[in-house]
Amino acid sequence: MILDKFNLKGKVAIVTGCNTGLGQGMAVGLAQAGADIAGVYRSDTSETQKMIKDLGRVFLPIKADLSSIEHINRIVEETINKFGKIDILVNNAGIIRRNDTIDFSEKDWDDVMNVNVKTLFFLSQAVARQFIKQGTGGKIINIASMLSYQGGIRVPSYTASKHAVMGLTRIMANEWAKYNINVNAIAPGYMITNNTAALRADEKRYNEILARIPAGRWGTPEDLQGAVVFLASDASNYVNGFTIAVDGGWLAR
Ligand code: NAP
Repeated sequence: MILDKFNLKGKVAIVTGCNTGLGQGMAVGLAQAGADIAGVYRSDTSETQKMIKDLGRVFLPIKADLSSIEHINRIVEETINKFGKIDILVNNAGIIRRNDTIDFSEKDWDDVMNVNVKTLFFLSQAVARQFIKQGTGGKIINIASMLSYQGGIRVPSYTASKHAVMGLTRIMANEWAKYNINVNAIAPGYMITNNTAALRADEKRYNEILARIPAGRWGTPEDLQGAVVFLASDASNYVNGFTIAVDGGWLAR
């Protein structure tokens, strides 16, 4: 039956950047659907840990700085040591740097591209190799952005990185569909998290953005839960390489 296909009981999901914001919201959503969570974090993740445990699910905290790819194999190993398998990877961790494009520094370029693109790609590759070894297939969900479609203002490395996330989602889906690996992405609209704290502090920009959102409000981490559970579940087995916007209608304008 169709609702059974959304059930994630017995599944194991790695979620990066699980301690706060959209990563926390998606980890909780996946756990509500039945999954156990290997939560990759850099800052204290006790709040997420408690939320997952209160749902009766297992939470494995894995501390790792994703600004380089050095911890990628350990993330896979620790998950396998604890759970014996991986079913789902959510590449959520990401950063943004704001400055006029004319003044933008190499460091602000490299820092963003390393986390948002390089680590996302090589962690996906490591987990896909594990899926192939298991012979089970699996689900990879990347977090894209409105700036996978649009240029934005004062965020050149972020725009480049999120365009790359949408492209990588397609190529990984193309090459790995034959292993029953579904690679898709979610493009959140303007959401209330640390990522947009500076933007929301600028009252003029906040209100300009709000006025353009057909739903009439900024999004919240809970707003991503339906899309992530869908893409992590058997209900999406024939969805490959697509980026779903969860944006209150922003792109439709
Ligand atoms: P956030 O609250 O700033 O969360 C970002 C997460 O990524 C945090 O858990 C952060 O850890 C983690 N992270 C960043 N760099 C890391 C590193 N080097 N190593 C390990 N973890 C690292 O912002 P968010 O809005 O939830 O962002 C989540 C994803 O959604 C990002 O990919 C972002 O680009 C994307 N997104 C957000 C919006 C929005 O409107 N908020 C819109 C579109 C897309 P720390 O807490 O330790 O920094």
